[in-house]
Amino acid sequence: MIVAIDGPAGCGKSTIAKRIASELGFYFLNTGSFYRAVTRAQLDRGLDVSDADSVLETAKSIEITVNDGNICVDGVDVEERLHGPDIDQYVSYVSSDPRLREIVTDLVRKVAGTMDIVTEGRDTTTVIFPNADCKFYFDASAEIRAERRIKQHPEGQTYEEVLQKIIERDNNDKNKPVGALKLASDAIYVDTSLLTIEEVCEKVTMVIRTKISGMGN
Ligand code: C5P
Repeated sequence: MIVAIDGPAGCGKSTIAKRIASELGFYFLNTGSFYRAVTRAQLDRGLDVSDADSVLETAKSIEITVNDGNICVDGVDVEERLHGPDIDQYVSYVSSDPRLREIVTDLVRKVAGTMDIVTEGRDTTTVIFPNADCKFYFDASAEIRAERRIKQHPEGQTYEEVLQKIIERDNNDKNKPVGALKLASDAIYVDTSLLTIEEVCEKVTMVIRTKISGMGN
């Protein structure tokens, strides 16, 4: 079974997808981590992240695997190094190249294989898994998402800076030529702005459990 969740940065996708996966005994797959890993590798090599050809070469030259939910590049666990402001700043540009998106899409599908998964990202409901069994689109106002980010990572950034970066990333993610963030016609829209994590989990889990019981009939 495939549960796919899309939505903008900071709307709670990862936290909730992880919890739901653990509750249902499904595998959690964060698709943004693949783009983050490519961005990490490019920066670690001291190469230009705005040079799409060079990024593509890097992507083709590395092996990305997932070990116990953590992303590894050439066998080295880089999970802890994927969420700094340097990656946040460049990843939506890096992920704009349709050639890179094709590589990541194939890789994600390969990693997912035939497992039961909860996956999340920007195009999991539209491009990567258009036939997912349950689709959700999470949303929240940019202001609320900025507040959440500041609470999660208070070090070194002001609220205004974080808000600006979120708005910039939203614009990039919604205007990509391929794999743009959009609401799939068959996805359930969940505004998480005024809901707690528990409330969102409950809502989503109920939909999934109903689907599962229907599948058994
Ligand atoms: O979800 P996360 O914030 O880790 O994603 C990082 C970036 O990767 C997003 O801002 C987006 O540009 C890109 N991404 C994407 N398609 C996905 C997942 C992430 O373009 N399926």
